[in-house]
Order: sequence, then structure tokens, then C-alpha cells
Amino acid sequence: MLAISEQFKKQANLIAGEWVGADSGETIEVNNPATGEIIGTVPNSGKAETRRAIEAAQEAFQNFRKTSALERSQMLRRLHDAIMDNQESLAQLLSLEQGKSLVEARGEVGMSAAYVLWYAEEARRTYGDVVPSPWRDRRILVTKEPVGVIAAITPWNFPSSMLARKIGPAIATGCTAVVKPATQTPYSGLAWGLLAEQAGVPPGVVNILTGSASQIGGEITRNPLVRKVTFTGSTEVGKLLLKQCANTVKKVSMELGGNAPFLVFNDADLDRAVEGAIAAKYRNSGQTCVCTNRFLVQSKIYNKFVDRLAEAASALKVGNGLEEGTQQGPLIDMNAVESVESMIEDAVKKGGKIVAGGKRHSLGGSFFEPTVIANAKLRMRFTKEEIFGPISPVYKFRSEEEAIELANNTNFGLACYFYTQDLGRAYRVMEGLKYGLVGVNEGVITTAEAPFGGFKESGVGKEGGHQGIEDYLDTKYVCIGGLGL
Ligand code: NAP
Repeated sequence: MLAISEQFKKQANLIAGEWVGADSGETIEVNNPATGEIIGTVPNSGKAETRRAIEAAQEAFQNFRKTSALERSQMLRRLHDAIMDNQESLAQLLSLEQGKSLVEARGEVGMSAAYVLWYAEEARRTYGDVVPSPWRDRRILVTKEPVGVIAAITPWNFPSSMLARKIGPAIATGCTAVVKPATQTPYSGLAWGLLAEQAGVPPGVVNILTGSASQIGGEITRNPLVRKVTFTGSTEVGKLLLKQCANTVKKVSMELGGNAPFLVFNDADLDRAVEGAIAAKYRNSGQTCVCTNRFLVQSKIYNKFVDRLAEAASALKVGNGLEEGTQQGPLIDMNAVESVESMIEDAVKKGGKIVAGGKRHSLGGSFFEPTVIANAKLRMRFTKEEIFGPISPVYKFRSEEEAIELANNTNFGLACYFYTQDLGRAYRVMEGLKYGLVGVNEGVITTAEAPFGGFKESGVGKEGGHQGIEDYLDTKYVCIGGLGL
């Protein structure tokens, strides 16, 4: 079965249309988090390779910027088709290096294709304006042009779709790209190079590097040829990159961490809320930026919700993502396991009650039991910190006002969810929540058609929707005078 994914397991970097190793010849091992097995290596590239990739992207930009919107749209359609033609192989590769279940991996690859198709459509709609002029003899045009070379840095939790949201708009607008996927999941990132070749994307338009994060990130942010940096990852690294970009005043998009609240009101449809809770929490073993971090449940239904959630969490099938039927794969590594354990220990010490899971799974390695902790209190660490693992802390609230206040009491502002059947309350709560994404009676809401992006320390900029293309464009005002009118 795995032989199919081998074709996309590219153990080289793509610079100026050539698949190459690191200058030093050094490599980094990549492993399968479900088994600990080494599945291959990738080049350990650094500053010099990054500079060459940026220069190649700059050179390719000179021609690529002149391609028509229709040509780029057609290129993206071919890229979409290449992804979908290889959905199963790409999903297997993704599951192999990341650990997520095949069902989720297929979904992620499908999502990548959906983003590419969306940007194929948006490529033809980057309209400018003709503005009524205050002068008789002058005319005002507002045009949109590609920013130039963009650099993208992505995390390990969605190694395919996070790149779709960046490579898609880059190609759509005529920008060229230098891409650095996460070291733990490089193959799904490198696969974009092969797919781009299959789709007829010219050499140098998409360059992909693996290796030292600080050296690649340092060169990307320092080099004046790079006009935009788009990053998805932790708030900590995002802040560092923002500082580094300041010296050359680049455009930036930052998709950072979250601390999603999931509110359940007394009047909620409980079946629906539990189903949404499982999807919003345990997807990707709790390792998504939009995963629920805090369940806030109204007092009357608190006990019932806790029982139902514990029952549903305990029923999840934990296993190797590549085995059909698996619902929750391993955590990415043992550091993640230790981090989850220390949060549980902290909660228990402070009065939390484990009602499901709570420990390493009997499968060993980095498998962890889906966990539910009742009696969650504000003083527990997960009130403020992103869990990034399969723990559901359940807090109790009494009034709507208290719920909104608790939900907003965080530096993050990415996703939130709430369940109610009262229309007035739905509007009040929706308007009261300081979050970039709000799910009302829905636990999974990401789609290419809608703008994805957080408030506060969860980031700046949007990906997807008609907003997603804007950051890849410069707006130019042109005044045409002396018309003799
Ligand atoms: P991370 O540690 O910030 O790493 C993300 C990427 O940044 C990786 O490619 C990493 O490279 C690179 N990186 C690390 N240090 C760097 C540096 N000094 N300079 C340049 N690049 C550097 O995040 P992660 O642990 O992979 O991902 C989890 C985080 O991402 C969570 O906080 C999650 O909420 C967030 N996330 C946000 C979104 C969103 O859309 N808002 C989506 C998904 C994930 P290496 O792999 O080589 O270290």
C-alpha cells in the first residue's frame, strides 16, 4: 500500500527548477510518529541555499508577472487536477509523516485542491478601479500588481493545506515563492514541487527548502528581494518573524496560535453539541490551531454534557493513521506527550477530575488517550495556554454575560464555537465574541470560500475568501494628466 506514496517522497530541495541536496551534503531524518521508523531524509539547507532560491524566484518573477490572469488560472486548474488525481498517494504520505488518520489526510488533501481551485477562480477577479477625477484634465486609475517574491513558512499539523493557502494566491497573482515546510513533515511540502511541475508551473516560480529554521527564516526575513512573508505556526515564532521583517518593511501575514472556547448553553441541542465537540476537539489528535481549548458549559446541562463528552471521547478508536478505521492517530512526538501530561498533572493538582482517558495509550510511543477533565478552573494552565493535544477541560458558567467574558479572556482570538437554539442569543453572543472565526451550532467551519484568520495574538491577515488574495497584491494609484480635456 505504501509503495504508492513513494513517488511523492522527494528527498531533495527544489531551487530554480532543479532538485538538489544541501551544499554541505547534510541531511535530516524524517520519521513516522506512529512507529518511530525512519522513513527517509531531506536536505539540511541553510542561508546560502535560501539566498539562491530567493534569487531564482526573483529571476522567474520577471517573466511570471507578465503571464495573463487566464494563463495563471488555467495553471492552477491543472494543479488542482494533479492534486486530485493523486489524492490517495498524497494522503498516505501525509499520514505516514504526520500521523493523522487516512480519513483526515484525504480530507486535508481535498482541502488543498479546493483552495487551489478557489484561487484559480479568484485569479481572474483582481479588479482595480477607475475613480471619478476631481480634475477635468486628469484621470485616476487604481491597479493591482503582484508584490513579487513571497516566502512561506508552514507548520507540521497541516503540511499540505497550509501551503495551498499560500502557493495558490501566489500563483494566482503572478508572484513567485520560496517555501519552507516544517522539518517533521517535509514530504507533503516537497510534493508541491512535483505537483507544480506536473501542472506546468515554470521553473523558479515555486522553490522549496528544508533545513535549519533559523538560517532559512533569517535569510528570508533579511533579504530585501522578499516582499512578503506568510507564516503559519506558533505565536512565539510569529512574533520573532514580525520583528525580523521590520528591518526591510515586508508585507506579512501571520496565522498563529489559538485558544478556542466552545460554549454550550442550557438551550443547546445536546446531540449536536457533543458531535461538534468531538470534531472540534479531537481532530488531528487535538493538534489544530482551531481545536477547542476550553469547553464552557452552562450550569443546568453541565453534568449531562460532561458525561456525554466523556462517553464519546472514550469511544474514539486510537491507532496508526494508516489503518482504516482509526479516528485518532499518535501525537507528533514525545515532547507533545510530555506537554499534554504536564497540563493534566497541573489540572489534577488544582482540583480537576479526569472523567475520560488521562494517560499514555496502551499502544505506546506517542499515542495518547482522548481525555476529558471536569471541574476545570481558571487557575489551571490550559485557561491561558494552547493545549495542542487531546484534552478537553470543561468549565462551568451561569449567565450569558459570564460566558462571553470567559470566552474573551485570552490573548488569542482565532476560532470559537457556541451552541444555542435561541436566535436572539445567537446574535448577541456572535457579536460579543472577539474571534476571527465563529461556529454557531457547527464544530468544523473551515472552507476555501471564507476568510480564515485570527484577531489579537492569533495573527494578521486572511487566507481564503475573496480577502485571501489581497496580501499578494500591491495597490497602485496612477494619475494620468495633461489630457487636454
Ligand atoms: P512552530 O514551532 O512555530 O513552527 C512552524 C514553522 O516555523 C516550522 O516550519 C518551523 O520550522 C518554523 N520555525 C521555527 N522557528 C523558526 C525561526 N526561528 N525562523 C523561521 N522559522 C521558524 O509551530 P508548530 O509547532 O510547527 O505548529 C503549531 C503551531 O502552529 C500552533 O501554535 C498552532 O496553533 C499554529 N497553527 C496556526 C494555524 C493558523 O492558521 N492560525 C494553522 C496551523 C497551526 P521547523 O519545523 O524546522 O522547526
